Amino acid sequence: MPLLGANVSVAGGMHLAIERGEALGCTAIQIFVKNPNQWRQKHLTDDRVEAFRVARAKSSIEAVVAHASYLINLAARDRSTLERSRRALVGELIRCNRLGVDALIFHPGAHMGRGEAAGLERIADSMNRVLAAFVEREGRRGRRVETQLLLENTAGAGTVLGYRFGQLAEIYRRLEQPRRVGLCLDTCHAFAAGYPIHRPRGLGRVLRRIESALGPAEPSCVHLNDSLRPFGSRRDRHANIGQGEIGEPLFRRLIRHPRLRRTPKVLETPLGPDGQGHRNDLARLRELAGNRSSPP
Ligand SMILES: [Zn+2]
Repeated sequence: MPLLGANVSVAGGMHLAIERGEALGCTAIQIFVKNPNQWRQKHLTDDRVEAFRVARAKSSIEAVVAHASYLINLAARDRSTLERSRRALVGELIRCNRLGVDALIFHPGAHMGRGEAAGLERIADSMNRVLAAFVEREGRRGRRVETQLLLENTAGAGTVLGYRFGQLAEIYRRLEQPRRVGLCLDTCHAFAAGYPIHRPRGLGRVLRRIESALGPAEPSCVHLNDSLRPFGSRRDRHANIGQGEIGEPLFRRLIRHPRLRRTPKVLETPLGPDGQGHRNDLARLRELAGNRSSPP
């Protein structure tokens, strides 16, 4: 069974995300462990953690990943934003680890005019501090560290870094705990950044780039998004599967790729006016996978 699903809402309680995922027939889901547009992290009670863990254990959801706040910038110029970003990411990692979330995905950061080299160095330095604090704090509480941190490739708008796999490799080779870090491949971002992932051999090439950037490694997660904007535009606008500039053939290759069989693949596509965007995209993906049996 491929690990396939979508980003689902946690509105009304984290454990409801599991129900929503199951209602869509997901085997993998992505959630936010806090409001992604705010710095504030409301206290996560033990009861809520337990409710989430119980719901997950009873469900057919095999993989749970989380996406970090959009405000976090590990390359921030300004000292207070930088400190705030580091603290926020440590906080989210701890929440994920308590909830049993497999991986936390984040966008590497934007250099804000300081230049690429300085930005990449600052991101790696921040990640080293974040991971050290995370491991130390969880260790003090006697909790095993299970949540992995995943760098996501970006579309490269403005001064955003991580749109070339070479940049991700630069960050990766500076890490003190590289085992705790993996990569999330976003198809829309790779396409917008100018990787011809939509062409017949494009996916294989991108997977080889990832392998050379991270050592012998597969992506730990894939974001399945078509792109509203054209190839190489460096604009990040997601489209429903087969309705954007990438087109269905990439998604057929991805969903059938033997090396990615056990990699969680989640949609971040528009829900649309009727709210059925993910349901329709999942149905299309199951068809592309050659599995027409309908989900609940
Ligand atoms: Zn993404």
